[in-house]
Amino acid sequence: MTDRYCVFGNPISHSKSPLIHAAFAEQTGEAIEYTAIAAPLDDFTGAWHRFTAEAGRGANVTVPFKEEAFRLCDTLSERARRAGAVNTLVLGKNALTYGDTTDGVGLVRDLEHHGVTLEGARILVLGAGGAVRGVLEPLLAGQPRYVVIANRTAAKAAALAQDFADLGEVRGGGFETLDGPFDLVINGTSASLSGELPPLPDALFAPHATAYDMMYGAEPTVFLRWAAARGARTLDGLGMLVEQAAESFFQWRGKRPDTGPVRERLRRAL
Ligand code: NDP
Repeated sequence: MTDRYCVFGNPISHSKSPLIHAAFAEQTGEAIEYTAIAAPLDDFTGAWHRFTAEAGRGANVTVPFKEEAFRLCDTLSERARRAGAVNTLVLGKNALTYGDTTDGVGLVRDLEHHGVTLEGARILVLGAGGAVRGVLEPLLAGQPRYVVIANRTAAKAAALAQDFADLGEVRGGGFETLDGPFDLVINGTSASLSGELPPLPDALFAPHATAYDMMYGAEPTVFLRWAAARGARTLDGLGMLVEQAAESFFQWRGKRPDTGPVRERLRRAL
């Protein structure tokens, strides 16, 4: 029977993951099936166990199940433990479930692809939700000068900064106390989803700064338009999506797909 993989979410019909993994499988010659499954909101664990009983070997996990996926794992990667969330499940030996989070490494690889240097950079991260928690460890591993986290609910940013303080210089607070300039500003809020812009000061960007929005779409987000008008180079989160998928694929199949052509194909289809 063909090895099966899927992405669990609810809702899930919008997901681009089946397309991405089909392209990876074709490229690497791996015979797998990858589908999107809407898990019941009250029984994610049951959905995973039913899937593994029917040749399911691994899964991606998206909103709203990343924390529940974290809780059901028998073993976890260090970065998943730090993030408190899992976006990649792997069925291991003796039917044990291993959990990892690949969002953060996906972001960092995408930044690398675009020639963005983390070492010595002054980084601002907007937001303090699940996505930001997942990217802090790999960002700090790149040895920036410091990371500032700014969030609408300032206390959440401060608490998050404290959780990662052993990995580098990181501090957190509200938008009102923000003081640039920054070399890299990453928008990890969900404000872009509703076309909103967090209240940011005008003098945010250093010369040659990069603005990155974890969200993506056919048109630049309001944050990216705002940043471009202030001279920053702009990147959206489509590359992060493809890179996190490639890292999951590697966990499952031991092969690293070439992400460039897949990213281009997705971009054209947006
Ligand atoms: P969460 O719901 O966990 O967190 C949302 C964050 O956004 C919180 O910090 C919240 O602030 C803030 N926020 C929401 N609305 C506003 C607003 N109007 N103004 C200012 N701040 C706001 O979401 P996630 O962390 O899971 O996701 C965040 C974004 O990252 C989403 O857009 C998601 O699509 C994207 N993402 C992209 C990925 C990719 O592969 N490209 C992967 C994962 C996520 P507060 O704490 O005050 O409520």
